[in-house]
Amino acid sequence: MKEVTATIITIGDELLIGQTIDTNSAFIGQELTKAGIWLKRRVAVGDVREEILDALAQQSRDNDIILVTGGLGPTADDITKPALCAYFGASLVVHEGALQNVTDIFNRLGKPVTDRNRRQAEVPDSCTVLPNQRGTAPGLWFEKDGVVYVAMPGVPHEMKGLLLDRVLPKIRERFTLPAIAHRTLLIAGKGESEIAEILENFEGSLPPSIKLAYLPAYGMVRLRLTGKGDEQSSLEAAVAARFDLLKGLVAEWMVADEDISLPEAVSRLLKSKGRTLATAESCTGGAIAQMFTARPGASALYNGGVVSYSNEAKQDLLNVSAATLASNGAVSEATVLEMARGARHALRTDYAVATSGIMGPDGGSPEKPVGTVWIAVAGAAEARAQKFSFRFDRARNIELTAHNALNFLRRFVLEMEGE
Ligand code: AMP
Ligand code: MG
Repeated sequence: MKEVTATIITIGDELLIGQTIDTNSAFIGQELTKAGIWLKRRVAVGDVREEILDALAQQSRDNDIILVTGGLGPTADDITKPALCAYFGASLVVHEGALQNVTDIFNRLGKPVTDRNRRQAEVPDSCTVLPNQRGTAPGLWFEKDGVVYVAMPGVPHEMKGLLLDRVLPKIRERFTLPAIAHRTLLIAGKGESEIAEILENFEGSLPPSIKLAYLPAYGMVRLRLTGKGDEQSSLEAAVAARFDLLKGLVAEWMVADEDISLPEAVSRLLKSKGRTLATAESCTGGAIAQMFTARPGASALYNGGVVSYSNEAKQDLLNVSAATLASNGAVSEATVLEMARGARHALRTDYAVATSGIMGPDGGSPEKPVGTVWIAVAGAAEARAQKFSFRFDRARNIELTAHNALNFLRRFVLEMEGE
């Protein structure tokens, strides 16, 4: 089967000067890979007509699909549409469906439709319009000399909707894509290089049609097996057999055998046990609370939390004793245990998790260097704490602490209540 190849061209000065991070390419890359399309290149150009034309001409030489994002907006710097007209020898015409969409959106907002807005409904006359349900600029699909070109708006949320609902289904109709099977698992509490060591033989034994990918994040690693073949069900069976082997090798650190986040896994665990949670956060400043409340249905398990940043807050809100703070300091086993017990009591929950640490860049000492973190969990029967040593970067330390706290809590709950 011939490989179907693609290139992404992102357009916008803001991408080149570092004002906007190109998240579109990451999302598109993931989705293309899942669909069995080989993403050959990512190209970024500014809002410059000649650069856009050059990129289109160059990338179409050795690709089946060119995915373009950005520059479809209503402002003067957005020149993707005229550039596409020049490239395809097309002229702009008003598309009635797109105009209706613009009118509907502004009516819903209770705002008048200006000429500038109306221009969002102008499209090159040689394209197929892909309706955008999340915004005013439609997607534009072109074909020329056997190559498919799709232009999508730069707004990530709009691009995602178009890609998933319109572009990929149309690509699947237009091209013969290979069968693809993915299985993902999530590991916490073990580093990528240690895992790679453990999996060396397994990886070496994989057939060429199945690949193992490491997708590390702070305090976690995702492992993904991807199989590519001609026939879906036999491919899925082959990947499933390898996935079972893989699970056996990492069972000790495995959080989930599917593609979910750590907060999701912990939430599901607590929910399945019918347990509730409170948080007491000093150094993470609410990051853990945010991870739970970002998820719909959080109220079934998450009662609330205290951001007890100062010593006074720890005393007044969580009942940490002045003596404990005076003799052990805020970043200590004794303090973090009292925080967890205090939160569990104050919020009347089954479990509580607490964090206290030195996030940096300042505030370290020889005994407690930057990155020193204490995490505690408390349940009905007991409370337990552990010290962690992270690194020097504040943002990373917060994320590492939050993820390790969730995993510490997860292990504690499993130990108390079983699988
Ligand atoms: P545009 O379609 O060029 O008007 O862009 C609309 C918005 O999407 C702007 O806020 C851009 O900064 C943003 N944007 C454009 N391209 C990307 C990209 N590749 N990744 C993430 N955001 C983007
Ligand atoms: Mg732009």
